[in-house]
Amino acid sequence: MSTSPAYSGTDTDFDLVVIGASYAGVGVAGAAREAGFSGRIALVGDETELPYQRPPLSKGFLLGKAGANLPLKAASFYEEAGIAFIAGRRAVALDRQARQVLLDDGSALRFGTLALTTGARAAALRCPGAELDGVVTLRSIEDAQALSERLGAAAAIVIIGGGFIGLEAASAAIALGKQVSVVEAGTRLIGHAVSPEISAYMHRIHAGHGVTIRLATKVERIEGKDGKATAVLCDDGTRLACDLVLSAVGAVPNTELAAAAGLAVEDGIVVDDFCRTSDPAIFAAGDCTSHPNVFAGRRLRLSSVQNAHDQGRAAGGTIAGKPEAYRSVPWFWSDQYDVKLQMVGLANGGSTDILRGSVEDGRFSLFRYEGDRLAAIESINKPADHMMGRRLIAAGRWPTPEQAADPGFDLRSLA
Ligand SMILES: Cc1cc2nc3c(=O)[nH]c(=O)nc-3n(C[C@H](O)[C@H](O)[C@H](O)COP(=O)(O)OP(=O)(O)OC[C@H]3O[C@@H](n4cnc5c(N)ncnc54)[C@H](O)[C@@H]3O)c2cc1C
Repeated sequence: MSTSPAYSGTDTDFDLVVIGASYAGVGVAGAAREAGFSGRIALVGDETELPYQRPPLSKGFLLGKAGANLPLKAASFYEEAGIAFIAGRRAVALDRQARQVLLDDGSALRFGTLALTTGARAAALRCPGAELDGVVTLRSIEDAQALSERLGAAAAIVIIGGGFIGLEAASAAIALGKQVSVVEAGTRLIGHAVSPEISAYMHRIHAGHGVTIRLATKVERIEGKDGKATAVLCDDGTRLACDLVLSAVGAVPNTELAAAAGLAVEDGIVVDDFCRTSDPAIFAAGDCTSHPNVFAGRRLRLSSVQNAHDQGRAAGGTIAGKPEAYRSVPWFWSDQYDVKLQMVGLANGGSTDILRGSVEDGRFSLFRYEGDRLAAIESINKPADHMMGRRLIAAGRWPTPEQAADPGFDLRSLA
């Protein structure tokens, strides 16, 4: 699918222009319409597909599943909602005074209100050999198709980065019978996002499936032959022979457009509770933003479907004249092998972690208390704990640590 029929190709004036067509962008446009915004809406994206789900790209998609089920909305949604979906066009400059956005085909769109939902991109790997053929990243459906094809032909893959995307790809590669190594610069897997206990648990799971894991190890360079990657050389002298390298070293927010136009940017486009940027005519939502988060008690940038979707919808409501502060409980999930890891809330560090369930059985949750407050719950194959956690943390009601530790205590009694 490319440009929607709702867009004639000659329209240049819109009441709302949304730049970036993914969770946050679809959220802004859809929620504005639902909240009664009657003006003309354009949703501009530089990818050519209908806006689609990214999480399956590092999970089922690599195993040949989920390919057909990716679109976030059917094509008819944009038509019916009167949203002009302009695909395959990149916004290259923003003129705040003239209130117009310049696109990469030389055309310009004038806006009454603008929403920036430009998301993030895969961080670049910076080492000699990073440019070799066979060194890839994973962010888009195009990346996933390329990775999938290369993985099919590969015998050994080295994954640089032991975060969610790297580990999900490792799990898929193992399922495809590949030899898999993970090189992580930090001292534990998914160290930025989960407790040491969950890191250790996931380490055991991956090691048990045959993944070679090197922690506290940096990649010095990638060796190649005839322009193609053949090995990863680590700073401890280890040489990992491979025919494919996945660089999964994080994501960088796409803030350049905002910064060049003089909007406040601090590790993300700075927005307030209502997704307003430093210009009252411009909103922003999703992975590209830095927002004040009530659950963390500080400003931060989140990279999750929940945040992009909910923040987008909050922005859309506000744009339509129904201001709605963004106060959703953060949550996230990851699927690796037969492990469903789910997190709700945000732990700032220094928590007291209470175990509920059985680590041996592979079904447990960690209730993470900061002082008296339940800051987060991390669950392994315990979706009911996760779902209750979302309700309890949102409501500001939670079990005492003693209740959380007691398998006989029914969390539903608090709801
Ligand atoms: C492989 C993978 C697996 C993931 N798994 C999970 C998961 O299990 N759970 C979870 O919660 N999250 C997961 N995420 C993260 C989640 O997908 C993101 O948080 C979410 O996609 C963010 O949505 P967004 O709309 O803010 O931005 P994005 O999805 O990044 O979309 C931004 C869009 O804007 C476009 N764009 C950027 N600049 C311009 C421009 N100048 N002009 C026009 N278009 C532009 C981009 O090309 C892109 O299409 C995963 C991400 C990836 C890549």
